[in-house]
Amino acid sequence: MASIEDTQSPPETEIDDDDLCPICRQLLHRPVVTECSHTLCELCMTEWADVSVTSHMTIVPLAERPEDFVAANIRAKCPMCRTMTSAKRSLEVEDRVKGRYPEIYQIREEEAVAEEEAKEVSIETLTVYIGNTAIPPDSLEDERALFDWEFFVNISDTSVVNEVEILLHETFKKPRLLRYKPPYSVRRLGWGTFIVRANVVLKYGYSWISSDAEDTKYAKRASLPLEWELCFDGGGSQARCQLKIKKEGRLVRRSRGIDTRG
Ligand SMILES: [Zn+2]
Ligand SMILES: [Zn+2]
Repeated sequence: MASIEDTQSPPETEIDDDDLCPICRQLLHRPVVTECSHTLCELCMTEWADVSVTSHMTIVPLAERPEDFVAANIRAKCPMCRTMTSAKRSLEVEDRVKGRYPEIYQIREEEAVAEEEAKEVSIETLTVYIGNTAIPPDSLEDERALFDWEFFVNISDTSVVNEVEILLHETFKKPRLLRYKPPYSVRRLGWGTFIVRANVVLKYGYSWISSDAEDTKYAKRASLPLEWELCFDGGGSQARCQLKIKKEGRLVRRSRGIDTRG
């Protein structure tokens, strides 16, 4: 009598239950761990968690960096237990599964890249920080004493950014500055605060999903105007906002090459 075992070819490598994603039932890929202690693939968390991305700026500690804040990290309902949670990338788990199943992990990585490329249009979340640092003058008695300040725009994925245009107060000698690569920042001496404007212009093929976005000469909704009022208190300040961008797959897709596996 033939049993099911006889007709199925055994998997090449058994994967431990602990190393499987509970959502896609495959080897964990770019694993994240939630506050409620669930471990899932980053993409599974991003796709399955109920996320409401707001464009509201939130003042956050100056030390926070885009790399500390992945898309899966937005507070959202956990797809496993439905509590509000956030997830952090776990390099510990990633190293473990990579070490245990190097070939399977490699295939997962290739599949993920192919999947991203196959999409005609894909939506990405960008985390943008805008703010300034400020070093006070030696003496605050003198009203004309100068602060040493640096305005910056920090973006979680700079590969989609073509340039950041920074517009200072018109009393500055060169009020318009263009930055084509990070750091998108400008450092000056000044005694007064004012509103700095910055336009974040995306690369060809990308556009902002925002009614605030403006057209450029080359593309629709490619430029996003942001404003920041300089802050000289407490060494400076920064705000974080979550924004969405759209990628037109056809324009940026690379050729996939020939799959020689199998
Ligand atoms: Zn998964
Ligand atoms: Zn959970």
